[in-house]
Parts: sequence; structure tokens; C-alpha cells
Amino acid sequence: MNKTVIPYGRQEITQADIDAVVSVLESDFLTQGPQVPCFEQAVAEHVGAKHALAVNSATSALHLACLALGLGTGDWLWTSPITFVASANCGLYCGAQVDFVDIDPRTYNLSPKILAEKLEKAEKEGVLPKVVIAVHLCGQPCDMQAINALSQRYGFHLIEDASHAIGGKYQGEFIGNCRYSDITVFSFHPVKIITTAEGGMAVTNSDELANKMTLLRSHGITRDSSQMTHEADGPWYYQQIDLGFNYRMTELQAALGLSQIERLNQYVACRHRLAERYDKALADFPIVTPLQHPESYSGRHLYVIRLKLDEIDQTHLQVFESLREQGIGVNLHYIPVHTQPYYQKMGFEEEAFPQAMQYYREAISLPIFQGLKNKHQDEVIRALGSILL
Ligand SMILES: *Cc1c(COP(=O)(O)O)cnc(C)c1O
Repeated sequence: MNKTVIPYGRQEITQADIDAVVSVLESDFLTQGPQVPCFEQAVAEHVGAKHALAVNSATSALHLACLALGLGTGDWLWTSPITFVASANCGLYCGAQVDFVDIDPRTYNLSPKILAEKLEKAEKEGVLPKVVIAVHLCGQPCDMQAINALSQRYGFHLIEDASHAIGGKYQGEFIGNCRYSDITVFSFHPVKIITTAEGGMAVTNSDELANKMTLLRSHGITRDSSQMTHEADGPWYYQQIDLGFNYRMTELQAALGLSQIERLNQYVACRHRLAERYDKALADFPIVTPLQHPESYSGRHLYVIRLKLDEIDQTHLQVFESLREQGIGVNLHYIPVHTQPYYQKMGFEEEAFPQAMQYYREAISLPIFQGLKNKHQDEVIRALGSILL
């Protein structure tokens, strides 16, 4: 192929980012130095949470969040089938069982109505979930107020997987303030809104949950004498009081994150401008453009269109392949998790989540990222028009 491909998402690295990382390389600490706590504080302040814990991925953050909430063998974790596999796998890591709640046909997020019905049934059968993970797909917040009301009524813990949603707002407040959840998790993978290469963050307002996650992030080891079983043997002393992991973020990653977060608001605003340009240009195409909830400000991580297949004389696969052939790096977010072979072994029926399956048959993610030039976006629109109109 001689054509340059316009990817669906990509990072932007500035000279300031490079300088920040190089200065860490020249410093005393490559890990466990001052950058990580600075980055944690910057994220906590930006989103309005009391505690922030930097880790080496959002996947690790989800795992720690589930453990801190006490998820274990015999428990259930519920999440949306339209998400990255990590939102469900974290339950399996803890020895819990995973089930899914079908999506709302317009927001593509976990449907509070279907959740309510499923909870009512689960209560009768005595199999209520211990943890529900609400995924803010494409950056659009879930109906957290409704899901929170259900969590109060049925007594489950609530995690927000906000991997797509840093910088977005729900009811006028930044996602991550945990007003309606126990813990919120962000990802800093390069396709996400800001990046640390690999990296993630868990934020919470609970001292207890923050302490548990801090302990488990680093082997279950503490240097805090108040947590030890007896007084320290000497200045070298630490105790392992739980079984944890090495999920720490490096200083290089934190320095990059600190530099990137300065541009967060600008990045999300840029994504909104691009999304609005798509909304206008695609208004008469035989597709459904993303709904924007009037009460929220999306992170706009992804711009997902749904094909109106009964108005198009091509298949979903043909449209997708034609776009790729024209150098448009479209993608599909996501393959319903319950259809993955690993999950199929657990006995999920594909059509148990019909809205998710319908979404999967129609969805295509168009390129959207800070640094996508208008002329490249116009190429995407032109290519789509040549196929659909
Ligand atoms: C990217 C992503 C993750 C995992 O993030 P990592 O930082 O790559 O571990 C989890 N959930 C969702 C919804 C994601 O998009």
C-alpha cells in the first residue's frame, strides 16, 4: 500500500513531553521518585477526587479496584458486553464469575433499565452482583445517578471504567469525582485521550479503598508501622501483610502524563470540534451518528457510526473493507465480550444480549484524535460518501 493510513486514534507528543521524559532519564529516579505523586495529584485535582493511584495500566487499576472492594470466589461481577475485555477479565482475576448487562440502543452504554430488571431477578435467585462496572463507552458517561440508585437498593459496589472518558463531565462535574461510584479508573494507553505509553489510574474518595489499592499495587508490602504486626526491627524494615503485585507506574510514564494533562481540556475540546464536524457532514448519510446526552460532556474518545443496513446495498464488512482500502483506519469497538471464545466456554448464548449483537453488526469507529487535520477528516467523509451515497 502506498497510501498513508489515517488511524482511528493516535497520540500527540510535543517537545515539552520529550523534554519532560528526558529530564527524568537524567535524574536520580527512574521509578518510585517524585513524578508519580505529582501526576497523581494533578489527576486528583483535575477530576475532583480525594485520592489517585497511578499504576502500569487501566487493567491493573481495574484488578486493584475489584480486590479492594472485596471481590472474590463465589461473587459476581457484572459489566457491559460492549467494552474492552479488560472490564470483564478483572472479575475473573479475582476468582469471581462474570455476567453482562445489555446496552441501551441509543447510548451504547449499559442500560439502567435492563440492569434493574436483571437485579430484580437476581435478588429472587440469591445471586446479586458484588461489583458492577459501568463503562463510559466512547467517553459518554453512563446514567450514573440511576445506576447508583440501584447500587444503594441492591447493595453492590460500583466502579466506573472511564478509560475513554478523562476530561469529560457528567451533570456538569468531571468524571472521576466518584460522586456516584466507589472507584473510577482511567487508561493512558496511546490511543486514549492522554497517554503515558502504558499506564492507568484509580481514583477514589475513600481512604480505606485508597490504602488497600496502595498496598496491593506494590506486593502487599508496607513501611507504615501502624499497619505492621510489631514494631520495626530497624530502619530497613518492611512487612508484607497481603499478597500484592508489582503494578507501579514508572517516573518516565508519570512525567509524560504530567506534561500531557496540561493539554487535557484542549484535547477534549478538539475532539468535540471534530465530532461536531462529523455530525454536520454525515447528517444525510444512511447511518446513525452518536447521540450526545444533553446532561453530559463526553470525552469523545471514539466516534462510532452505525450503518442503516436496510438503506445500504452493501454489507457491514464491505463498507468496513472499502474504507480500509481507501486508507481510512477504521476500527470496531467492540466485539461483544461474551462472544469471545474464552467467554463462550462459560456458556454465554450470543443472543442473550441482543442490543449488543445488533450494535456489533452495524458499528464502525471513524478516526478521531487531537491532531486529526480538517483535510484528513474531509477525506474520511469523502470516502464514506463514495461508499454509502
Ligand atoms: C483501553 C481500555 C482498558 C484497558 O486499558 P489498559 O490501560 O490498556 O490496560 C479497559 N477498559 C476500556 C473500556 C478500555 O478502552
